[in-house]
Amino acid sequence: MEQILSNIFRFTLSDFYTNNYCIIKNDKVLVIDCTISYPIINFIKKNNLKLVGVILTHGHVDHICGVKNLIKETHIKPILNNLDDIQIKISQQIYREYGFTELPEFEYNHIEEGKIRIDEFEIEIIHTPGHTQGSISLIIDKILFSGDTIFRESIGRTDLIGGCFNTLINSIKQKIIILPEDTIILPGHGELTTVKHEKVNNPFISV
Ligand SMILES: [Zn+2]
Repeated sequence: MEQILSNIFRFTLSDFYTNNYCIIKNDKVLVIDCTISYPIINFIKKNNLKLVGVILTHGHVDHICGVKNLIKETHIKPILNNLDDIQIKISQQIYREYGFTELPEFEYNHIEEGKIRIDEFEIEIIHTPGHTQGSISLIIDKILFSGDTIFRESIGRTDLIGGCFNTLINSIKQKIIILPEDTIILPGHGELTTVKHEKVNNPFISV
């Protein structure tokens, strides 16, 4: 676990090095993606935090396997784009093959685009398809959580079910690169970046 910003903690989990994020406001915590439950549950308990929401950037197995245990004993329903229902179903079939032990089976609510509020968190949901059809990115306090849409100097893969290279590039160009240049991007894999850094250094984007 690493503290990325004053109120944002990153957990890089599993053989896929998937980033999960905990965002804290007062004693409340919002979780973005949950690969494996126990590191996040331990963190929440140790810091006496109250879990108020879980948002899933997409339905791939390495982003969702910990959700069931994370939300156990709460009434929280994670949020996912409806176009990734298929990804959840696939993940339920393949999770063991990919080395996970937690079955990704849970109830969730659908989200499309727009602003939502979860407790003290104001969240803007942006639909950024391409890595999967239902991939979303989130803006919280001017920070972009990009899931597997864009990485530092790279992009998400598009060769899996529901992936489409042109759609991904359009999502990045039309919805991410247009954000203010100083926007910090926290991706689903790898290190932090900014919109400005990607404009200059991402080989998949020629602005
Ligand atoms: Zn993915």
